[in-house]
Amino acid sequence: MGGRIGWTRCGCCGQPEAAVSKTDKGTLSITCHKCQFSAFAKPGTKAKRLIEAAMTPDDEGTETPPKGDNQPAPSAPPARQGFGTILG
Ligand SMILES: [Zn+2]
Repeated sequence: MGGRIGWTRCGCCGQPEAAVSKTDKGTLSITCHKCQFSAFAKPGTKAKRLIEAAMTPDDEGTETPPKGDNQPAPSAPPARQGFGTILG
């Protein structure tokens, strides 16, 4: 269905966040929202391999990357004390 899989540099205007999408047939498409450039690369072509090598994939398993205050809490190690003195 043409889901977005990542982004790459636009081959036309050079801006770094042209969207890379993949159709259900495996064709890659690049769409630049700045200059409206669009390109397609069919499966098995050198163009597709080059795009895949150059693109930055979206986070795997994450449709929309979280933004804002969604940072994981720092894992504090559990307090561990007192053992050494007992065994001594
Ligand atoms: Zn562009």
